[in-house]
Amino acid sequence: MIFEGLADRLQATFKKLRGRGKLTEDDVNEAMREVRMALLEADVNFKVVKDFIKKVKERAIGQEVLDTLTPAQVVIKIVNDELTALMGDTQSRINISSKPPTVIMLAGLQGAGKTTTAGKLAYTLKKQGKRPLLVAADVYRPAAIKQLQVLGEQLDLPVFTMPEGTNPVTIAEQAIVHAASYANDIVIIDTAGRLHINEELMQELKAIKQTVKPHEILLVVDAMTGQDAVNVAEHFNNDLGLDGVILTKLDGDARGGAALSVKAVTGCPIKFVGMGEKLEALEAFHPDRMASRILG
Ligand code: GDP
Repeated sequence: MIFEGLADRLQATFKKLRGRGKLTEDDVNEAMREVRMALLEADVNFKVVKDFIKKVKERAIGQEVLDTLTPAQVVIKIVNDELTALMGDTQSRINISSKPPTVIMLAGLQGAGKTTTAGKLAYTLKKQGKRPLLVAADVYRPAAIKQLQVLGEQLDLPVFTMPEGTNPVTIAEQAIVHAASYANDIVIIDTAGRLHINEELMQELKAIKQTVKPHEILLVVDAMTGQDAVNVAEHFNNDLGLDGVILTKLDGDARGGAALSVKAVTGCPIKFVGMGEKLEALEAFHPDRMASRILG
């Protein structure tokens, strides 16, 4: 379960604080030391933790707060607000174009869960009454094309493929032409991944972006890789420009460092989270619910 360790530690800290009644500045400082340690242990980015603690302290160590009847409650509320703000305040949605088809490009490193997420996203949009077309543009991994075709069959949704050796830019371009003639209002492009970020990958993604001008470029990253996921997101955002992040494998991430750092480090909101291997296991990311999960 995500935030397991963090939730336990913060809840213990705040239980102590609540037991105190009236609070002094030292009490708040002591609690913030514990919050800081807990966040670092949850693998939250160092700079993010520093800024977070500074903000909470500034708000908490004011006379108005410490003089209230339930100061601990107020401090907890401030932590809750700031945790929510850290993750992006409000839920971020997919940008649906007024002129169909809406083109969604998925990018990410190999193994992050990109192809699975393409299927999950198609399933989610289909449930909302859309008619998505899945596009197999991962030409380097023939298994990925097959994998997408299997997902398409399961979902009863079309999958656009082209013969081996076709350039991914051509595939993406042709897919959009196809979508227009078959009344598919959403196009989900599953691009190729690599084991590591390299120039060749970025050039290919930039070429697709330039040609098809996607309405949404979403990066799929594996939450279990913690700060690596955040670094990957930062790199992709700088090079390619992202509209959002989909954080996968949150079901296996006990710490939650990536979920808490991605927005603060990159400025890109997390739009969805993957909570398992099944097609139904994609959830919209709600910063406020995540914060409540941490504070109990
Ligand atoms: P790609 O190389 O990025 O296209 O990755 P795949 O879509 O092939 O996924 C790699 C592995 O991660 C597969 O075994 C998926 O079932 C698994 N996977 C993807 N998303 C999730 C998730 O949210 N939770 C869990 N537990 N596994 C996932």
